[in-house]
Amino acid sequence: MKTLQLPNDSTRIKALIFLMLIAYMLALAIRYLWVIEIQGFESFYWNNTLMINTNDGYFFAEGARDILSGNHQANDLSPISDPLAILTAFLAKLLPIGFESLILYMSAVFGSLIVVPVILIGHALRQTRMGFIAALIAGIAHSYYNRTMIGYYDTDMFNIVFPLFSLYFIILAILHQQNRYLLPITFSFALSIWWYPSAYALNSALLVMIMGYVLLFERKNHHLYQIALFAILGIIAIPMIYKLSLAIILFAFFHFRPLQDQKWFWAIFVGVVILYFANGGVAPIWSLLKGYVLRDTVMDDAHLHFFNVAQTVREAGNIPFNVFAERISGHTITFVLSVIGYFMAIVAYRPLLITLPFVGLGFIAMSSGLRFTIYAVAPMAIGFAYLILFLTRPIEKPWLKIISQMVFTITALYPNYLHAKEYLTPTVMTNQEVSALDKLKKASEREDYVVSWWDYGYPIRYYSDVKTWIDGGKHSGDVNYPASYVLSSNDPVAAANMLRLFTEYTEKSFSETNKTVSDFEYMMSKEGFQDPDEFLTSLSLPEYKLPKKTRNVYLYLPLRMLDIFPTVCLFSNLDLKGSTPKAQPFYYVTSAINDTGSTVELGNGVLLIKEKNVIRIGQEEVSIKTFSQVGYDQHQVLNVQKQPIAPEGLNVVFMQSYGKILIMDDYYFNSAYIQMFVFENYDAQLFEPVIIDPFTKIYRLKK
Ligand code: MG
Repeated sequence: MKTLQLPNDSTRIKALIFLMLIAYMLALAIRYLWVIEIQGFESFYWNNTLMINTNDGYFFAEGARDILSGNHQANDLSPISDPLAILTAFLAKLLPIGFESLILYMSAVFGSLIVVPVILIGHALRQTRMGFIAALIAGIAHSYYNRTMIGYYDTDMFNIVFPLFSLYFIILAILHQQNRYLLPITFSFALSIWWYPSAYALNSALLVMIMGYVLLFERKNHHLYQIALFAILGIIAIPMIYKLSLAIILFAFFHFRPLQDQKWFWAIFVGVVILYFANGGVAPIWSLLKGYVLRDTVMDDAHLHFFNVAQTVREAGNIPFNVFAERISGHTITFVLSVIGYFMAIVAYRPLLITLPFVGLGFIAMSSGLRFTIYAVAPMAIGFAYLILFLTRPIEKPWLKIISQMVFTITALYPNYLHAKEYLTPTVMTNQEVSALDKLKKASEREDYVVSWWDYGYPIRYYSDVKTWIDGGKHSGDVNYPASYVLSSNDPVAAANMLRLFTEYTEKSFSETNKTVSDFEYMMSKEGFQDPDEFLTSLSLPEYKLPKKTRNVYLYLPLRMLDIFPTVCLFSNLDLKGSTPKAQPFYYVTSAINDTGSTVELGNGVLLIKEKNVIRIGQEEVSIKTFSQVGYDQHQVLNVQKQPIAPEGLNVVFMQSYGKILIMDDYYFNSAYIQMFVFENYDAQLFEPVIIDPFTKIYRLKK
């Protein structure tokens, strides 16, 4: 529709580059706010450098570290062939900056590049100003900011940038119908899938969009079928080198033998489509959907019933509309205007229809979790930019037009600026925690295992260079079970036996490539048990015959686990045979302590009544079984005072040095974690303390 189109507005290359620089500098400057706001916190620094703020970052950092050192240990799960790890190691060799600064700033430096394809898309449509305004917004919009802020060292830094380049090349190819854009389409598709395998789904959706576009509008246009062909070549699940070679050969053939192209095109097209389906086709998309949308993650091949991890994932579910809107555009009003502008823009500039898969994926967030909103950021920013230009079109005085466009743009940017300024994400670890891991690195061997909850797996492996049972990527119910079992165990012998057994069998199972059961079941059957209850009971026997010890095992107990301990325990507080549900034990931890004299208010309707020695929870009164007070004296030695009060009831622990109160029943109170962390109470026959620090306690298994 011509009436919706804006007057052409193109700039020369120099001006284009200048606009890119301005948008890029703004994106970087906004990201630097985090450093400014957070630099006073000394505990966020290690080696005089701010630490990263995303847990998964330590995974890639481990890989990069190992690539640089030239070696790693078999089965240590270090991602030495991961693209981000490879890129990081490459840059570390190339650039004269420290490794820790590199992983701190990479996300911001590369993620801010989103402004380049966004401006280019505007430029391709002869709407450079639209591209520029959109780039300013897209570069700092909430969710995109959150996922590419300084310290957010993860694949996100290119997850949007690469597909937006694909989009740019597709739009160029549609508009100009020239062969020279075909190879960049294949290359950018291949690159984005290599970088982030899940991009397979988005790229396939882009392909469907191209096909739809051809069939709807330009059925007779041969060039558009070529675009589709080169898009499929970039997607096919075959090694990068094959798809690129194939694309180059076909390109040469089409380009230099146009007559042969007419003759053979459809045979080749069908052949490539067959290749696509023969190598997976839509199956990878289906499994992605299952993982995210349907959340079908129950292990159905096992005989044992483990806890389903998705049950604890809170990211899913319906998010309020304003949160969704703010994450995409910064403000609900901006978002609504963006949607209106977006629909007008795709009517005015038909090639923008190809952006629909980004919008679709972004809007999936409404039902499947916030992580997807970043996909809709750029198309919505383009929509908003279009609307500004459309609304200011009637203004005749050039200066007044520019000023009104600036006012609109700045108004849209402002909430995003505020968000960035107030979004004070802490670093994953504090320097005191890292210092404990650094000491552990010196005390341990690289083949040793450190057992803890999966949340700490990546940082442990990065800072201590050891192996772990579980981590941010390996944490299904079956592997979480043994860790949960150890941490919640009321019996030190059983905990010690499990530590040794599952360590040896985790290592063994790597070489047992054709086993079809979980590592846990594999261990059980190799130990000669059919019945899981019999196996667990026998673990309590001190004379249980353990497999040969091949390495040391450490138990890592951090203070921060106090807050998630009930979740940790869920994974083993169950019947592996799946018949009888177990009782839910009681656990409450708080720092909100208000002593009124006769009572202590603990928040959430929990009240400690001193003279009656009871705890009131809601309407119910429960007697206090034991009262313990733990705290460090002036020599940093832990002082424990325990008073038995009643034969039954809940245990109260006042952790004086941390200003925390814990209320729990015996199940938690007698657990390995609470006993060994809070009270430093351990069986000296079985464990030896290695690092005892107020934030981290690490024990070595003596068996
Ligand atoms: Mg290693």
